[in-house]
Amino acid sequence: MSYSSTLLAGQKALVTGGSSGIGAGIALHLAACGAAVVVNYLSDADAAHQIVAQIEAAHGEAFAIQANVGREEEVQAMFGQMCDRFGTIDILVNNSGIQKDAAFVEMSLDDWNKVIETNLTGQFLCAREAAKEFLRRGVQPDISSAAGKIICMSSVHQVIPWAGHVNYAASKGGVDLLMRTIAQELAPHKIRINSIAPGAIATPINQSAWDSPAAAAKLLQLIPAKRIGNVDDIGRAAVWLASDDSDYVTGTTLFVDGGMTLYPAFAENG
Ligand code: NAD
Repeated sequence: MSYSSTLLAGQKALVTGGSSGIGAGIALHLAACGAAVVVNYLSDADAAHQIVAQIEAAHGEAFAIQANVGREEEVQAMFGQMCDRFGTIDILVNNSGIQKDAAFVEMSLDDWNKVIETNLTGQFLCAREAAKEFLRRGVQPDISSAAGKIICMSSVHQVIPWAGHVNYAASKGGVDLLMRTIAQELAPHKIRINSIAPGAIATPINQSAWDSPAAAAKLLQLIPAKRIGNVDDIGRAAVWLASDDSDYVTGTTLFVDGGMTLYPAFAENG
């Protein structure tokens, strides 16, 4: 990591789905820059406590909170616990997400609802609680020039249609306009909201797409940069969006995708 260990000093961050994959990577990067971090998890308490232990071993501050981001009362309880312990929140990373894939005509309403509830409603509920606290507290100039920052984890599938994954693509398309609408509404209050749209990052959510040589070779055909991304690629982007280095950036999506959204099939076929 090449940035300063004090870049986010004094700031309090919440990372949803912080016990694995991209969320765990972001929690470690924010902590390495001096933020105190809440690691939210759904069910894997051991994994969440391991991330907390890793942060503490590096002399950072962290604790874990179980909550389902799709449930209003659990989200409100989580923010209550965070504010009791840390006093406030400066950075929300809306990272939790799931996939439940099926051909369109075979997709159950239950699988549609579960993905929308976690990936879209979960981001709405957490962003609303964070924004209430940002508005209550306002800017603390010695901490950050913003009253608060929200980073929404989107996907290249906010723009690339994805057959067999209509619930997921619809949820990420929804995240885009959720993010841009609240960015417009809250910018006058010095609250910044942006998205990160990862391409293919090797994590548990997409393991079958990269964990065999044949699958990895097929995936690489979609990536002009010719490598599969890793959680540090996303962690570094999150640090930038959370810090005052991006103070004039709001309502934008940062694609971290090795060029996946550049229509790679046209490189030799246009
Ligand atoms: P992951 O499965 O490791 O992480 C998802 C996390 O969300 C897990 O920790 C899971 O426990 C948590 N979660 C699921 N449902 C939850 C709920 N109801 N409440 C709270 N937490 C819940 O996979 P990942 O790749 O790290 O995914 C993180 C985010 O990145 C997701 O939003 C995903 O859509 C997005 N994303 C990932 C990729 C990729 O290539 N890995 C690409 C684009 C976008």
